[in-house]
Amino acid sequence: MKAITLLSSGLDSVAALSIAAESLEIDMALTFDYGQRSAEREIEYARKVCKHFGIKQQVIKLDWLAGITSTSLVNRELEVPELSFEDIEKSAPVEITEASAKAVWVPNRNGVMLNIAASFAESRDCEFLIVGFNGEEAGTFPDNSLEYVRAMDKCLTYSTQNGVKVLAPLIELDKPEIVRKALEAKAPLEYSWSCYHGGETPCGTCESCTRRARAFRTVGVKDPLLESLGL
Ligand SMILES: [Zn+2]
Repeated sequence: MKAITLLSSGLDSVAALSIAAESLEIDMALTFDYGQRSAEREIEYARKVCKHFGIKQQVIKLDWLAGITSTSLVNRELEVPELSFEDIEKSAPVEITEASAKAVWVPNRNGVMLNIAASFAESRDCEFLIVGFNGEEAGTFPDNSLEYVRAMDKCLTYSTQNGVKVLAPLIELDKPEIVRKALEAKAPLEYSWSCYHGGETPCGTCESCTRRARAFRTVGVKDPLLESLGL
């Protein structure tokens, strides 16, 4: 069984790839550049992950998507929202995470990426697309949910001849569980970049950095990326 992995180099995509690689042949990785602030870092770190697994990486540029979105991930004139540990607790007011999700939303991003990846998969005789969708983010991002994966699988039975399927090994997990599973699968987390910004080091305060830091703190281990950067 062969699979293509969608690899942003974030914690989730690196964990999902590492888990899937235990039982599947990974044909290649796709990294998408839609003009996001962290594109350069994501491509660089995803390249390191691909080298670790000995797989080919293809970078797909989506300039048109950068051109039609007003998200703060792309638009440098807007501020990327910052969240604290308290803001992402389940008991925190949902408006805070909803406002953050709205500010970083890119129109149909996962739909576009999955469909492009499905074309690669069909043409290369691959049965699966590996994604890092997870239970924690499904709460704020509907395109991370199990319902979405099921709906996409159904769509792909019509649009691909070999019935490509989405494989989401983290779909029911929260971030601490993802860190635990990733460590079990010996995922190269020192090569995983989660920050929405593209600085030399992660900012530590954007939603993605906060969720990651909280997960490592909950599990009680140091983030290998921060360790490798001497932080
Ligand atoms: Zn950050």
